Amino acid sequence: MKIPFCDFCVKSGILCQKCRELIDTGKNSDLDLTLSRILLEEASRIRELEKIEFKKAHVEDGVLLILSNNDGVRILRDRKEIAERIIRDTGVEKIIVVDYRKDQKRKLEELVYPFRIVGLSKVWLPGNITEFKIMVEGKELDEKHVQKLEKLAKKLGVNVRIQTT
Ligand SMILES: [Zn+2]
Repeated sequence: MKIPFCDFCVKSGILCQKCRELIDTGKNSDLDLTLSRILLEEASRIRELEKIEFKKAHVEDGVLLILSNNDGVRILRDRKEIAERIIRDTGVEKIIVVDYRKDQKRKLEELVYPFRIVGLSKVWLPGNITEFKIMVEGKELDEKHVQKLEKLAKKLGVNVRIQTT
């Protein structure tokens, strides 16, 4: 498993200088530390978790976005008990897992999962900024949740406007 901190620091809760700096510089957060601990603990039980790379997490009003690798996306979707523990231990309502190495379109697909993107266009705004407009099949998606997803997309470096159909 790949996490931002040393295994030993996460397990002991006493951070070495390198790990302390990750927090002090804002590169990683206490939330990242909590998630690293959960994943390490669960990995002693579920060997498959060894394949996971955990990079960083962001939270937006009760929705937790986890930046991971492809195995992380797959395993955290399949293994409901791990997702449930993360939700319980971090006090969020929902988790979303995205492979941070994928291209912007694939990141958006993972962001809105289990809803499906049925239309996508890309526009160029002044200042060489690109923005995606996507149409998502999901009448159940309310405006409040859509706004959270748009904010989380920014954390992934993607500007997006989401419409539902
Ligand atoms: Zn350390």
